[in-house]
Amino acid sequence: MHANRPPAPTAPRFDVPEADAFTRPYWEAAGRGRLLIRRCRAAGCGRAHHYPREFCPRCWSEDVVWEAASGRAVLYTWSVVHVNDLPPFGGRLPYTAAVVDLTEGPRMMTEIVGCEEGELRIGMPLAVSFRKLDGELPAGPPPLSVPVFTPCPAPAQGQSSSVVQPLSADGLRR
Ligand SMILES: [Zn+2]
Repeated sequence: MHANRPPAPTAPRFDVPEADAFTRPYWEAAGRGRLLIRRCRAAGCGRAHHYPREFCPRCWSEDVVWEAASGRAVLYTWSVVHVNDLPPFGGRLPYTAAVVDLTEGPRMMTEIVGCEEGELRIGMPLAVSFRKLDGELPAGPPPLSVPVFTPCPAPAQGQSSSVVQPLSADGLRR
């Protein structure tokens, strides 16, 4: 063993994404409070996808670009997690793991925050928010943040569904 080993790392954590050269724009945008998706520019396709890939999962085209998502989604399904031994999730129990359908089409795994379990409904409108990861993090695009979703009031009748409603004053969007 080398005599100058670095000090033992702090407790491992399992909520920290690893940003590589391809995903760095995604994490940098998340740190600024913007959700990015990928969109195919191939003729006859034009589909958006998530998680980010370097090619279109529909037509395999490599003509795929980053695009700012609206941040609006509806709840597809969820599961309330009561047991998770991987740090730091144990300190967040219970939490709501979910799959949401983004307005742009892609289905995304995420977490629902700011909503009691009894209030969750399939199809309920949601808006993206960002959880800043605290503590000592590996070198990355600070501040490292992960997208989560929170309930969002549905547009009033007669309004365009593309109208972005302001979030309630729950302090989630910073
Ligand atoms: Zn495509």
